[in-house]
Amino acid sequence: MTASTACLSVHGIAVSRGIAIGRAVCVTATRTRVAHYKIAPDQVAAEIERVVRARQQVVDELVRLQHEILHENTLETHAPQELVALLDVHLMLVQDEGLAEAVRGWIEDRHYNAEWALTSQMEVIARQFDEMEDAYLRERKADLEQVVDKVLRALSGASSPIAAPQSKRQNWQGELLPDDLNVPLVLIAHDLSPADMLQFKRDVFVGFATDVGGKTSHTAIVARSMDIPAVVGARAASQLVQQDDWVIIDGDAGVLVVNPSPIVLAEYGFKQRQAEVERERLARLKNTPAVTLDGEAIELMANIETPEDAAAARAAGAKGVGLFRTEFLFMGRSGVLPDEEEQTAAYTKAVLAMQGLPMTIRTVDVGADKPLDRTAKTDTHLNPAMGQRAIRWSLADPAMFLTQLRAVLRASAQGLVHLLVPMVASARELKQTRNLLERARAQLDRRGQAHGQVLIGAMIEIPAAVIALDAILPEVDFVSIGTNDLIQYTLAIDRADETVASLYDPLHPAVLRLIGQTITQATAAGKQVCVCGEMAGDAHFTALLLGMGLRSFSMHPSQLLRIKQEILRADTRRLKVWAQRVLQALEPKLAMLDKP
Ligand code: PEP
Ligand code: MG
Repeated sequence: MTASTACLSVHGIAVSRGIAIGRAVCVTATRTRVAHYKIAPDQVAAEIERVVRARQQVVDELVRLQHEILHENTLETHAPQELVALLDVHLMLVQDEGLAEAVRGWIEDRHYNAEWALTSQMEVIARQFDEMEDAYLRERKADLEQVVDKVLRALSGASSPIAAPQSKRQNWQGELLPDDLNVPLVLIAHDLSPADMLQFKRDVFVGFATDVGGKTSHTAIVARSMDIPAVVGARAASQLVQQDDWVIIDGDAGVLVVNPSPIVLAEYGFKQRQAEVERERLARLKNTPAVTLDGEAIELMANIETPEDAAAARAAGAKGVGLFRTEFLFMGRSGVLPDEEEQTAAYTKAVLAMQGLPMTIRTVDVGADKPLDRTAKTDTHLNPAMGQRAIRWSLADPAMFLTQLRAVLRASAQGLVHLLVPMVASARELKQTRNLLERARAQLDRRGQAHGQVLIGAMIEIPAAVIALDAILPEVDFVSIGTNDLIQYTLAIDRADETVASLYDPLHPAVLRLIGQTITQATAAGKQVCVCGEMAGDAHFTALLLGMGLRSFSMHPSQLLRIKQEILRADTRRLKVWAQRVLQALEPKLAMLDKP
């Protein structure tokens, strides 16, 4: 557990506000699915025993395999000598007392759960392997990883009886843990998939940084929903930071500081307290109606990724959910998609949690930077963002799509549900969706199952949809502008690629004109229009969107009060004149400066 001593900072892209100070937990991509939680002091012995049993199980398995190869020859005959030697290496590693001692140390000293303790120690040893001169020894790292995977698998067969604690400061019984165990933890990784991030929602981290990623990548979006400071695109972060180093994540400036000096630490500690005061001030706005100075009522809704997020939406005072990204139910399941019952239960849970407020369920939007599984990331299609994503994926598999539509219709019997179709490029896709929705309804009728009415909306996130909006509007009850993809597809900038992040520009004249046109045209046609992309939750753009005529915003619950504060200070009559100037300007950024 060596810690590097030099203080250094790495610049990346700020994706989620605030300051986090804590010790680094470095995770490799393959091990991100491991649960991270603290155990109660009286469970330490039992947790160590879990590791001992899992280790023994792996030893038995390896010995049995070796025996079969050498004596019974039950494997497909002629088992190569290398396999025997390899099993020897694996046996040696799994029985290594040094490894066992160190894992025990993580459990005893830090109260890490068994899986976390094991992978923490693996990270430490893996780095030592990386630094070895001898190529043969360097390659033994792969063996170590395989052995750790085996033990993890054995552990998963004997999962911990200990429930994950509700908070890092409490054990599972709600008792406060001693101070040394309260050290906040910051996650450092090369890359994290959106599904990995979702897993971390239930974990103990107070901030995170990754080497890669863009501001509106889905990984960043989930981080924002967790409301913890985060930096992506911090290039070499995962190599510079070592397990247990002290780090600071400055989510406002997009900076990661490694091993800060006492002065730097004090400065950031001060900033952290200021942010806390600001948060408490904003909390007072929760029950204040979102009405502008000139009396325009603005609808503030929430974006959610799981049914459980609906509680945070209500707690923040959201007037409904404007975007439920259902694809998170489909991800990280090795291709086994949720069936109708599971989906019905999830959507119904979310609908009921909103207690009569609208729930906008978006049909599954997998593809591009939201693969079903991590392995799909190695997708060899040249342009996955332009490939079979979102509604294209759904229409290509009618049975899968009908399952989702039936589940949404069943949930709509329990509350107010809107159905939102992602990545619409043409009216034809909406017609096909409507036809399938009617088929799903007829199937439920035949089964005698209850279902309700749903309004249908289209995500406007492909420039073609704006240009041909007159063809799309008759097919829908409402539209929702997905600025994240609209910017990506208009400017040909991959939203998840940090190397072109500086070109990803919400204020590009082309982007603003497409947004302005959608708001004007949809409003004139009497269709409700919302913005649910990240621009809706960014206070830099609130006045401009209001001036462009937007009256409905959907964002992560954590951003809602900050945006409400902007709304309460706004006068839409004055903003309208100014927004027209910005829309016509060749340099909108400059025109923004003379905001009334
Ligand atoms: C968008 O593209 O703006 C959007 C809201 O959808 P997602 O970020 O899930 O692609
Ligand atoms: Mg989108």
